[in-house]
Amino acid sequence: MQNAELILNHESLLGEGPSWDEAAQRLYWVNIMEKKLHIYDPVKQANDTFQLDQYVGAAVKRSTGGLVLALQHGFHTFDLNTEQLTPIEDPESHLPNNRFNDGKCDPAGRFWAGTMAIEGGGNVGALYCLDTDLSVRKAFGGVGCSNGLAWSPDHKTMYYIDTPTRQVAAFDYNIESGEIQNKRIAITIPEGEGGPDGMTIDAEGNLWIAHWGGYKVSKWDPVSGKHLADIPIPAKQVTSCVFGGENLDELYITTARIGLEEQELQKHPHSGGLFRVKTEVKGMATYEFLG
Ligand code: CA
Repeated sequence: MQNAELILNHESLLGEGPSWDEAAQRLYWVNIMEKKLHIYDPVKQANDTFQLDQYVGAAVKRSTGGLVLALQHGFHTFDLNTEQLTPIEDPESHLPNNRFNDGKCDPAGRFWAGTMAIEGGGNVGALYCLDTDLSVRKAFGGVGCSNGLAWSPDHKTMYYIDTPTRQVAAFDYNIESGEIQNKRIAITIPEGEGGPDGMTIDAEGNLWIAHWGGYKVSKWDPVSGKHLADIPIPAKQVTSCVFGGENLDELYITTARIGLEEQELQKHPHSGGLFRVKTEVKGMATYEFLG
């Protein structure tokens, strides 16, 4: 595997949530704490920025146009031309100290996104599912920091990361109903390697996991639980990754500067940048919201 290359020196406080738009060949990503939505075009090497008025956890493409965002105050549609935000539903309007964090669409086009305390700590978060009829249901609560999501290429398994557990959980996933059951632990990240944050999955069913506080993305077989490879990243807070590019064999990786001491930032000045690495395997495409 090649080394990760810095493609955008951005100094994001909390770069996160990359998703790949195959039709437009561009990357949506967010800067949660600075309330920014970005669109990166790798051909033009241009990064557009939309300034929002609340924390933005995740952005997904909507098949009928525009995006759907998981914001501090719930799910919203976003028109990229007018920059109009339209609320769909806020399932945690009664929890003002929470915000949405990571989210992603499933193979049936539902948008799953979870929450956490704005200040961190406590198991006060939950995982929600915005269905294609725009109804929202709570999948489960008791979540510390809702993060990575992925679905197996055969659509039978959903993977999920609640960062403080250091684990990747697996569920049986019913693509027709969106129901999940039979939770078990697929992967446990060893102590000293940071916490599992965002993740994505390749066409062979292996998971690529960003390590918050761990300077790397790691590759795992979630069926055997075997650790397969590491991609070192010159930034401590590695937050998420997604496959993109013409052949879906380029892994885009987001990072953050939040919580880092000045000494650490001097040692790793590209913390907060966007990185990319060519892989020998193709990734699964990003699913769109079909509602
Ligand atoms: Ca995250």
